Amino acid sequence: MYVILMGAQGSGKGTQADRVAPQLHLVKIATGELFRAAIASGSAVGREVQAVYDRGELVPDALTLRLVEERLREIAQRERLGTGIRGALFDGFPRTLPQAEGLDALLAAQGERVTAVIVLEVPRDVLIERLSGRLVCKECGATYHVTLNPPKVPGVCDACGGELIQRADDTPAAVKKRLDIYFSQTAPLLDYYRERGLLAEVDGDRPIEVVTEEIITAVARIGGATQGS
Ligand code: AMP
Repeated sequence: MYVILMGAQGSGKGTQADRVAPQLHLVKIATGELFRAAIASGSAVGREVQAVYDRGELVPDALTLRLVEERLREIAQRERLGTGIRGALFDGFPRTLPQAEGLDALLAAQGERVTAVIVLEVPRDVLIERLSGRLVCKECGATYHVTLNPPKVPGVCDACGGELIQRADDTPAAVKKRLDIYFSQTAPLLDYYRERGLLAEVDGDRPIEVVTEEIITAVARIGGATQGS
């Protein structure tokens, strides 16, 4: 099963991916996290993407697809070993039409295909409010918000005690650019999946648990409807 979670920055995609993936026995593939890890490790890929990342622009499609291909190969291997893993959940990928087509090709090569695409709908003013106060744990990646979801102790992660920081691309200028890119380059992808009968829209401006439940219901509905077709 290969599920795609879409939505603008701040729509709650990351939070929902962390909740939904284990419930469906899927491994999360979050390209943004892969790039942040590459930058932090100082690897060749990290050095290549750092400037683009900090400006809030998209990493080139070929490089993004190469990273995803590597992760998919690992997951297929784990599936074969009978680890109970049933596929992958994509968070923040695909973001362009060439990435969507590239993903279809990668999955087809494994005899697989996209099962369902869920898009989280959140009004733009709410997105900006959520992003401008967002804090991320430097150690474990958990996310907080200064007022909407504050940590128990300011500046300290509840989960692991790590230091909370603002992401380099959560500055007002980068946030605006990322939202513009989402609405101009990524939102058109919705049509690609809608035409294939794979898309479900979920209202993301509701309590976290309610959104999670609706995502899981929608995946089951679309997966069931397209099975064997
Ligand atoms: P995210 O954590 O999903 O908001 O991603 C943070 C940044 O990583 C983006 O602004 C891009 O620079 C880069 N990035 C993440 N996913 C992709 C992708 N699928 N294609 C291109 N760039 C990406």
